[in-house]
Amino acid sequence: MTEFKKAYDAHLEEFQKNAHIKGMEAYQRLYRESLESPDTFWARQADHYLTWYKKWDTVLDYDFSEARIQWFGGGRLNASFNCLDRHLETREEAVAYYWEGDDTARAQAYTYGELYRRVNRFAAALRHKGVKKGDRVIIYLPMIIELPVAMLACARIGAVHSVVFGGFSAEAIANRINDCGAKVVITADGGFRSGKPVALKKNVDEALKKCPAVKTVIVVNHVDSGIFLTPGLEHWWHELIALPGLADEVEPEPMDAEDPLFILYTSGSTGKPKGVVHTHGGYLLYAAMTMEYVFDLHPGDIFWCTADIGWITGHSYILYGALVNGATSVMFEGVPSYPDFDRFWAIVEKYRVNKFYTAPTAIRSLAREGEAHVKKHDLSSLMLLGTVGEPINPEAWRWYHHHIGRDWCPVIDTWWQTETGGHMLTPLPGVAPVKPGSCAFPFFGIDPVIIDDAGEPVKHPDEEGLLCIRKPWPGMARTVFGDHERFISTYFSQAPGMYFTGDAARKDEDGYFWIIGRIDDVINVSGHRLGTAELESALVLHPHVAEAAVVGFPHAIKGQGIYAFVILKTGREPSDALKKELVAQVRREIGPIATIDVVQWAEGLPKTRSGKIMRRILKKIAANKLDELGDTSTIADESVIEKLIKDKVDVSK
Ligand code: ATP
Ligand code: MG
Repeated sequence: MTEFKKAYDAHLEEFQKNAHIKGMEAYQRLYRESLESPDTFWARQADHYLTWYKKWDTVLDYDFSEARIQWFGGGRLNASFNCLDRHLETREEAVAYYWEGDDTARAQAYTYGELYRRVNRFAAALRHKGVKKGDRVIIYLPMIIELPVAMLACARIGAVHSVVFGGFSAEAIANRINDCGAKVVITADGGFRSGKPVALKKNVDEALKKCPAVKTVIVVNHVDSGIFLTPGLEHWWHELIALPGLADEVEPEPMDAEDPLFILYTSGSTGKPKGVVHTHGGYLLYAAMTMEYVFDLHPGDIFWCTADIGWITGHSYILYGALVNGATSVMFEGVPSYPDFDRFWAIVEKYRVNKFYTAPTAIRSLAREGEAHVKKHDLSSLMLLGTVGEPINPEAWRWYHHHIGRDWCPVIDTWWQTETGGHMLTPLPGVAPVKPGSCAFPFFGIDPVIIDDAGEPVKHPDEEGLLCIRKPWPGMARTVFGDHERFISTYFSQAPGMYFTGDAARKDEDGYFWIIGRIDDVINVSGHRLGTAELESALVLHPHVAEAAVVGFPHAIKGQGIYAFVILKTGREPSDALKKELVAQVRREIGPIATIDVVQWAEGLPKTRSGKIMRRILKKIAANKLDELGDTSTIADESVIEKLIKDKVDVSK
């Protein structure tokens, strides 16, 4: 602990002056209460964060064996009301979003009042098109203001939105439309990416060939592509909201706390995406509370979460959590590399962003391009850095902390899932020193346990096992849409009586949690279990390595051998000498058991559209099972796979 304490607690004293949770003792006191008296604790939070039409009858009722979970049963509220209406009195003129276009010349601020008016108008338009409470609506939009407007309009009238990330293909859209039975699709003629228009509507047209049930398509004119719409079926957004006779205001539909707010599909890293269902009550509360505590939100903050709203991170921390708290956020349409690799830092400087939340994949790709891009900008406004999505290698962590955070900002490594609705394991600023690569402690109400293969909690610090959660929390998913059996078998069967996360983890002697990787990815070499995160971190430590992915492959003697895909930094050349150095480095860092058998140089890795490495595909490539690649519907770039197959090393030799 002392080593970390010295290096990484620079922020602590400063944060403790003003943080919501000041110090370890305060955290532990509240944490204990949250587990020992969950009803009192959560009732107090539900009262504090949300406005209810009717208070709940019971705080919690659940049975994990049937995966039946109910929070605030009998309570009534509306998510859109909580995000908008109740702020009008005090925050009508406050900025909800500083929208920044892909094009550096396009930017616009939207106040809470403006957002309220747009949401109401569009809610009236949806009603006019016959959308009713409980109907599912697919939203396939770029990062433009109509995206949050459409989501909140659905919430307002009790329709269930399902956002499909704008980078997905026609096939992926069709699957989701049909899976959730949507009759309405909201899209745009196109989006901008790196200065070029990308056609979105074309993908919807293609998808709709397989979706006969869709009766209405609403299209935002964003790129002025001059497309023609099919009369009767398709409508321009701007024409629809301008219809004479449409109401300016729509009363929010009083929803049961357990009514679904949205369906969101998981990233598909480990298999076919699951349509996770979240609620108006519990989800909204959990998103709001984690937003305030984890980012230590205060009036005057300029928060920027770089995720796309099409992922749970965007749902919880650009939209619901942010708006319930009345926060001011940046919303960015573009990519980190356009017009150049300094775009993120230019935006931080422009808006004086002080809390910044991104993903390891973005950090690694920017670190790969060198520090010059960072140095061009004044980042002195930053006081907190967050990360989510994958384990962050300590090397990338340090780069982030040093170059972006001035060796001062805490790096808040948040571990959570689409299914959890909000942060689960995370440091809290002002509570304790952070450790590079550790997601620290459980959030309030979260009761994590690491169990061994026999289902028993591990007994010693640093013992690795399966990460499970023993108690329900308000933000947890309630079902997989249309397939409750899959919900039970995926999350509540491996470890009866608990929520099973699918991730492997360990807890160190100071009580910090470390995520090792997906359970299915853990490599077993001669009976020793090695986590992919640890192996990859050891590789990325090398100054020439930008990114690495490690998988196991069948090995006659060791059971599993270690196969590493390595991407070098821009300007570095592969060589046999470098290969030897890398193998030696991993042995040195982890031990002789971690001897890499194969190094394959790569230019790209198969990633989900949310930027996560799909090791299941790499595993098949390493094992030469090329006809078993599985569901590739969420892969960002198919051509990467072909290239990897072409360059693959034959392990049978
Ligand atoms: P699918 O469930 O379809 O396979 P997915 O698990 O990638 O896809 P998400 O819900 O987007 O879908 O991702 C959650 C997973 O991301 C976690 O289970 C974990 O493996 C990983 N993850 C997220 N945040 C972190 C983090 N801070 N550290 C380590 N791993 C993380
Ligand atoms: Mg998952």
